[in-house]
Amino acid sequence: MQLLKDKILSEGTAVNEDILKVDSFLNHQVDPKFMEVLGDEIARHFEGSGITRVVTVESSGISPAIFTAKALGVPMVIMKKQPSKVLNDHLYQTMVTSFTKGTNYELTMSQKYVGESDHVLVVDDFLANGETAAGVIRLIRMAHATVAGVAVLIEKAFRPGREKIERAGIEVFSLVKISSMSKDRILFADEEDPE
Ligand code: 5GP
Repeated sequence: MQLLKDKILSEGTAVNEDILKVDSFLNHQVDPKFMEVLGDEIARHFEGSGITRVVTVESSGISPAIFTAKALGVPMVIMKKQPSKVLNDHLYQTMVTSFTKGTNYELTMSQKYVGESDHVLVVDDFLANGETAAGVIRLIRMAHATVAGVAVLIEKAFRPGREKIERAGIEVFSLVKISSMSKDRILFADEEDPE
């Protein structure tokens, strides 16, 4: 998606060869109009596939997920990374390794909001190793719901996330794919390396 590529090139910074900082429109400040365009694009791709819920992980997945859910006309469910005194019974839980922090956390979802009649679309900001998406899929399956696909804004194609999710028989849809990054250059998978 050219619009997102342009935004990444103008506002994103590669912290190193592995981490892209997009705080100005996605991870810290959110540009809602722009995010709505991205959510609409994801929804368009999955239109007609019978999705009943959009599921995401707090916190950076929420903005693309809310607009995807709005466009599809279904509720959005937020999986929690932090323990909570409020969310304390009838839960599904699974351990996930965080890509950016390198630590483990317990991903948690209430049993109330996803059930066996649901067909669920997973939406997140990034796909890297696929640990987050795999954890979300485990919870959806614990609820005996089905997975419609995994949609992300930014796929890091040099990481094994797509392969891992597709191996589980699940479609991966990304708006842009980054094939490599360095401090002064971000290269997209469908563009020729000029060198
Ligand atoms: P995975 O679980 O696929 O390894 O990593 C995906 C999760 O890690 C996303 O939910 C996202 O929050 C975070 N993440 C992965 N790579 C990046 C990155 O380059 N920049 C930022 N800001 N977050 C990332």
